[in-house]
Amino acid sequence: MYNQKLFRREQLKFMAFNLIAFTIIFTLFSIIIIGQVRSTLYSNADRELRSFTERVEQFESNPPNDAFDRDPRGPNPRIIVIHWSKEGKILNESEIGTTLFENYFSRYTLETSTLGDITNLVIDDTYYFRSLLVNDTSVGSYTQLLINTDAEQSILDNFTRLITWFAAIFILLSILASYLLSKRMMQPIIRSWNKQAEFVENASHELRTPLTIIQNKLELLLTRPDVRIAEQIEPIALSLSETRRLSKLTSDLLTLARADSAETQLDTQLVDLGHLLLEVCTPYEEIALSQDKAFLLTVNGTIYVSADPVRLHQLMIILLDNALKYTKAGDTISVMLTNRDQKPTISVSDTGIGIQEGHENQIFERFYREDTARTRDTGGAGLGLSIAKWIIDAHAGTIQVEANRPSGTTFTITL
Ligand code: ADP
Repeated sequence: MYNQKLFRREQLKFMAFNLIAFTIIFTLFSIIIIGQVRSTLYSNADRELRSFTERVEQFESNPPNDAFDRDPRGPNPRIIVIHWSKEGKILNESEIGTTLFENYFSRYTLETSTLGDITNLVIDDTYYFRSLLVNDTSVGSYTQLLINTDAEQSILDNFTRLITWFAAIFILLSILASYLLSKRMMQPIIRSWNKQAEFVENASHELRTPLTIIQNKLELLLTRPDVRIAEQIEPIALSLSETRRLSKLTSDLLTLARADSAETQLDTQLVDLGHLLLEVCTPYEEIALSQDKAFLLTVNGTIYVSADPVRLHQLMIILLDNALKYTKAGDTISVMLTNRDQKPTISVSDTGIGIQEGHENQIFERFYREDTARTRDTGGAGLGLSIAKWIIDAHAGTIQVEANRPSGTTFTITL
């Protein structure tokens, strides 16, 4: 319940982060696009204004009879020229034209703070101009050049509206995308969290059982302080065996924990597989014989691989331990090394009790045991094959399990 709330809160946090990121990206994108369109639209008008000013300056330094007659292109008819007196009075009412002047410019006052800069000017909240004010002593004090940009402004308004709509729609869509993304991002976290919790629970359970046995046996011994050790062999032996079990379990847990944190590095070197197998199998051959089981080791040729010999040794011990654990007297255990399809392949088969059909993948899961009661007797905690799988994965190899006909199991490792 608490976890659910925690996951929900984290998911909401992820969602908020995603949403903020999307919104910032869309907003920046819109601002840049609108800015670009705006400068492109106005650039033509601004160029016209600048070139007109150059002509005014030329006129000032070298006044001809008619300044505009000298330029073969003549003045741009879109440009309105206003000459201002020092006191802010329009000097060329008649040039501007009565309609324009009376309707618009008679109420317009001179603004000198933008001298030399091209600015936007809105008259009557309806008509848009680009405006450039320059010093001009030849006619009055200042000359203001205006160019009507209603068409540009209308394109810009439409475009801004369009982009705003699109940005709004994309931001709305990004709420959905953020939700789905955050949900997806949380899935592996939830999965590994649950796995970790399950692992800790299983590990504690596995540790508790031998500890309880040891505690009970020791308490029992304490109640009889006068009894001789020779008479208490059973509780002492059991405690010892449970201690060994605990020690194996903790070392397995440590191996897996280190494997999870990628702390364990492989010490890779060139390994003679036949030699390694001979070394690992020799003691098992003796144990098998002592249990009336046949043990066969076949090595086809000399095969070298680049691997960590300590880990390969550990892997073989896991498989051979299992082969011994899950076979009875009269069964056979065979280990074979071949070079199948140019790949070094080791197979460990037995004619023992075998694995239930359909459980072939589960046996590699941590703490998985085919039959808890059965494997408790054999001393396993269900960690051996998970470690084997990790070793194989670390070597970029494969491990497969199949039924050995008519009975038993075959593990095939390819390196
Ligand atoms: P355990 O320590 O319990 O043997 P493992 O991870 O090594 O744990 O194996 C997981 C389970 O796979 C075992 O409990 C057992 O049921 C099954 N298993 C593994 N090897 C064999 C085998 N050679 N024959 C039959 N069952 C096996």
